[in-house]
Amino acid sequence: MSDLITRFDLPQSQMPTAWYNVQPDLARPLPPVLHPGTHQPIGPADLAPLFPMELIKQEVSQDRYIDIPEDVREMYKLWRPTPLIRARRLEKLLDTPAHIYYKYEGTSPSGSHKLNTALPQAYYNKQEGVQGLTTETGAGQWGTALSIACNFFDLECYVYMVKVSYQQKPYRRAIMQNFGAEVYASPSDRTNAGRGILAKNPDSTGSLGIAISEAVEAAATSGGKYKYALGSVLNHVLMHQTVIGQEAIQQLEMAGEYPDIVVGCIGGGSNFAGIALPFVREKLHGGKHDLRIIAVEPLACPSLTRGKYAYDFGDTAGMAPMVKMYTLGKDFVPPPMHAGGLRYHGMASVVCELYDQGIIEARAIPQLETFQAGVQFARSEGIVPAPEPTHAIATVIQEALQAKAEGVKRTILFNLCGHGHFDMAAYEAYHNGALTDYELPEAEIEAAMAALPVV
Ligand SMILES: *Cc1c(COP(=O)(O)O)cnc(C)c1O
Repeated sequence: MSDLITRFDLPQSQMPTAWYNVQPDLARPLPPVLHPGTHQPIGPADLAPLFPMELIKQEVSQDRYIDIPEDVREMYKLWRPTPLIRARRLEKLLDTPAHIYYKYEGTSPSGSHKLNTALPQAYYNKQEGVQGLTTETGAGQWGTALSIACNFFDLECYVYMVKVSYQQKPYRRAIMQNFGAEVYASPSDRTNAGRGILAKNPDSTGSLGIAISEAVEAAATSGGKYKYALGSVLNHVLMHQTVIGQEAIQQLEMAGEYPDIVVGCIGGGSNFAGIALPFVREKLHGGKHDLRIIAVEPLACPSLTRGKYAYDFGDTAGMAPMVKMYTLGKDFVPPPMHAGGLRYHGMASVVCELYDQGIIEARAIPQLETFQAGVQFARSEGIVPAPEPTHAIATVIQEALQAKAEGVKRTILFNLCGHGHFDMAAYEAYHNGALTDYELPEAEIEAAMAALPVV
């Protein structure tokens, strides 16, 4: 009987009660975050204009577990625990001895994993008396999640949406407005950062880095009325996502399996960290030395595989703190490929350290292969994945075919971090043959690197 089961559900009574913080488990601590002006390590006072104190504490916490507040757990129950599904039909299609499992985060109200952190961020801001949140959004998933969270915790929500997405994804915009958010195309004329970019390039289609500058400025100049929320990259954001991996460990136990390979796509690193960090702990301290953990990025925005591990600004205007990360340079504007959520120039410090310490691997995949994998997945499992997790799926397929070539059974787990129902224009372009691969010329990477700050 158990052979035929494809879905492993945890009861709500077994939802994680705490987030897992990887920081105390790292052999080498994270490099300090530096002030953009003084280049000295920043302290809580520097971050206070942007974030509530509880999130600042979480950012640098050395506690291995941090309790999830009761109110947040209540909200998680809207859709958590998410299912773990065995992709038997994909296995059959590939004729592979590998066992493929995916954690499906597309079941959340926002359609992706982002609500896992939007809710606690809204909660802590509300607790500390903040009136509203400002943020940026690229593909629209983060803005959607934050607008839902602000709606539930009665906060105003102002979203700076990368202009190319604002134009390409009108329904994403409408969802955010449905939950009461105000949405602006970035670069906008509402901030100094936006006006500066428009003066230089009136046709700018925007970037995440630019939108971050605008949202940060809007919060920092509000006199404490508004704070800023970031949907990825920061330690506390990655930590909030660890409910994914903690649930997956329990669900794989129900299936009687343990993964040989864990895979996630990386934009800023949060959905990958969400599924991977609890396994990183088992790899470092639970005797699972052979476990392979793979972070997958687009060939067109290859922060880990081709970037440089150096201090860089988190935003384009150079107002955000400087973080040591694998970066393509803050001025890097990725080509307009369709995995909008993976177009950030940098990467979470935690993911960079894990990569630099050799604990995780990285791989870059060209666009066409990702869409091919996404369509294969949809036709076998019935779910249209967002263009971002198709990077993970392409890697899973590579690994499943490798297992077949070697004639070995391997258990592969990946994070299906969102569905693609708002990304059908991208699939349409793929089916029309209008998508191309894009590999960055070395000269372009070198030019972007030349702008790295000297620390
Ligand atoms: C935001 C997003 C990403 C990229 O962000 P990460 O922080 O790397 O997870 C990837 N996939 C989906 C569905 C997203 O919403």
